[in-house]
Parts: sequence; structure tokens; C-alpha cells
Amino acid sequence: MNLRIIFRVATVLQCFFMINTVFAAEANLVFVRLSRIVNPAGGFAGMPGGGNLGDDPTCKLLSGLSLKKLKFENDESHHRKKLKSRVTEVFRSEFMSEVVDRVVETRKLAYPKITDQDARTIHVVINDCTFDAIKTGPAVFTMKGTIKSTFKGKPLNWVLMLNDAGWAQIDELFSKKNVKGRIPDDVLAHELTHAITADVLLPATIVSSNKQKHSTRHDVGLISDASMAFWEGLAEGVEATIGETLDGAFSYPYSMDPGNYGLLLERQRPVRNNAFIYYPNNRDNQNNFGELKSPRDLLASEGFIATYIYRLLTKLPYSLSNGAVLSGWPFMELVATIKETQPSNTIELLRGIFSREKGGHEAMLDFMEISYFSTYGEDAYEFSNEMRNIDLELQELTSKLRVKPDNPILMERYKNLLARQQGLENQWSEKKRGWIEELNTDESADPLRFAKKLARPLQ
Ligand SMILES: [Zn+2]
Repeated sequence: MNLRIIFRVATVLQCFFMINTVFAAEANLVFVRLSRIVNPAGGFAGMPGGGNLGDDPTCKLLSGLSLKKLKFENDESHHRKKLKSRVTEVFRSEFMSEVVDRVVETRKLAYPKITDQDARTIHVVINDCTFDAIKTGPAVFTMKGTIKSTFKGKPLNWVLMLNDAGWAQIDELFSKKNVKGRIPDDVLAHELTHAITADVLLPATIVSSNKQKHSTRHDVGLISDASMAFWEGLAEGVEATIGETLDGAFSYPYSMDPGNYGLLLERQRPVRNNAFIYYPNNRDNQNNFGELKSPRDLLASEGFIATYIYRLLTKLPYSLSNGAVLSGWPFMELVATIKETQPSNTIELLRGIFSREKGGHEAMLDFMEISYFSTYGEDAYEFSNEMRNIDLELQELTSKLRVKPDNPILMERYKNLLARQQGLENQWSEKKRGWIEELNTDESADPLRFAKKLARPLQ
């Protein structure tokens, strides 16, 4: 048995033990709603779901309103009472305690003077559709650096918003069945990763990152932009990680109809398998992948960044001071990297990770491997894509040969392709050796040198 695996099991158990006995962070959930908005014109707007509208909120959108100041108050209304109690129940799980623990540790790092109580307080807005102009569903709404927001006189950096999505209702996410299948946990872990990111970034970094966003949509399979892929890739990578490392989490029974939200869990597998390095072959089938993404598209691909984050947190070596080597960086090491390097997009995130004194170089080499050196090697992309095409052609031929096993034309083609594949593989090993040598010995070798050229169109 692999020693690393044994060690990993040991550390996971140890983490559980420590979390359960010493550091278990139970969230202090505070349900809030908006009491006041100040817009640039100086006006006051009553918000749907806010004080003026009693228990029957409507989801009217306030478009074109540029928000400058927000004031939140306790949401003591009885509407969504059942939803509030379900959300509270979800947060009580052992798994969510671990997620909340990450929020607490991050806030202590970001705001050293924060009290324990404030560090574990999560402000939740339920069904206030006002912000949700694009109907994305559950979200972390970051106000840091952009909108001055307060709750009881204290500044609020973000709130967790539990809204209906255009494609499913929030009640469905927290249905009894979904809670049992641990589906909200996955969504909340994703959203709270956004909160963690916002907590360690400075307001100026958040503003700069927002300016670089031009995509209005995002999904694990989409190519968006380098800023969106930074925020979303991180959260989707964390999902894939915790779905694997926490025993029993997100393994909803196969007999269960996954429903709208359960389908989110399906995206963890392709993230783990590095499938998002390929363009989707066919719009209707997310699991059917074709050619390799260009280096430019890779760095704007949430799914691919998610794969790298997943590998970083579960596979890449990290040495402890006692000489033991962990498989996977501690989560807080990633958080510290973000805090210290202040990335606003994927290029800066990767550079921050690669520059880390502990494990950075190994992490860079792993990035090279999983991206087929395409951000570094001169002809790596064309070369890898040619190999990928041969691979796809061989797959197609194999299925044809299953139907017509004795067809001489098919057999001849198969043989020729195999020989070509072998030749390319030999050349590839040679090239790879050279690039690794350069990256290991030449300090000025820039692993993202092509990304530099691509930076403008990406942002
Ligand atoms: Zn997200």
C-alpha cells in the first residue's frame, strides 16, 4: 500500500478528530434583510422582502439602480420559516462545521482583530430577489470594496444569498430529500469558498478583478474569462476536493433522482479527470469531449482551473516541518497564498502558487503536465492536439472494428495510426525532457510565457 495514502488517511482522521474536539466551528447564522438602500441620487427604496412588504415578498427586479450603500437588519419575518430552519439544520452537520471552520480561520487571517463570535457569524439573506437580476440562484454577494454595507453599525463584507435560480427554486435545494442527499452542503461549500476568497482579497484587488470580468454567464464547462475562471475555478475545485475527501459527502444514492441541484454533483467527476482540458465535442453532452483547449482558452476555463485546484489540494506534495510529506496542500496554505499574492485572475493565481517557497516548484511542474506544457512549450499545443486527434480517431476506429472485425481497410488504417501515435509519443517524451530541464535549471524560464501574450484578450 502506498505510504502517502496511509498518511493521508491519518491526517484526514486527525483533522476530523481535532475539528470535533477543539476547533468545531458552529456557524452563528443571522438571517438578515435590507432595511435601506442609498442610491447615488440620494433616494430611499423599499426593497421587496424588506420591512415594508410584510410576509409576502415579491421578486421584482430593481434594474439600473447603482447601489452605493446598503443597510441590513434582522430578518424576523415569518415568511420562509421552514426554509430558515432547514438551512440551520444543514449548517449543523459535521461536514458544514468543517466548511465553517475554513471561514473562521480565513477571517482570523484576514482581520486579525476579529472576535470569535464575529468570525463564525454568517449573514444569510433569504429570497431577496432584488440583487438577483440574472437569476443565478444561491450566491455570495460581495460588497467589499464596492458597496458600503452595514449590519447594526458594523461593516459587512459579504452575505450569503439564498435565492431562486432561473432553473430551480431554493425550496427545492433545501427539500427534505436533498438535505438527506447532502446536496445543499455542496452548494454551500462552493459559495463559502467565494466568501473566503473575498475575505482575503483587498478591496482594490476585488475592484480590479471585477473590472476584468466580461462574461455574464458561468459554468464549469464554459470558457468565460480569466477573472471569472479564477473565482469559479477555485470554488468548483474545492467542491471536487471535499466531495472526495469527506467520506460519504455528496454520494447521493444512485436510486435517487438527482433533480436540478443534484446534477451539480455530476460535475465533480470530469473536474477530477481533467476532462475540461478538452472542448466539449457536442453541446448536448457534457461528457463528450473533443479537441484540446488552446492555452488562451485554458486560462479562461473554470473547469480546468478547478482540476488544478483539486490536484493541488489532494495530490500535490507538501512537506511539513517534521519532514513528513502530505499529499495535497493544506487548504489554509492556498488561502495564505491568495492573501499574500492578491491575484485578480487565473494568471496571477497560478503565478502566486508557483512562487510558493514550499511546494511551488512541484506545483508548477504538475500544471505543466496536466496542461500538456501548452502555456510554455513553443509547439506543445499543436503537438498535443495532433496526438489527441489520433486518439479520438483510434477510439472511433475501435468501435467500428467491433462491428466489422475483419474489414481489411479499417485494420490497415488502425495499424498506421498506431504507428504514427508511437512516433509522436517518442518525440513528445524528448521535447518534454528538454522543457522540464529548462524549467528546473533556468530561473528566468517563465512557465506561463504564452499567457503573457494572451493576457489582454483574456481580460
Ligand atoms: Zn460560484
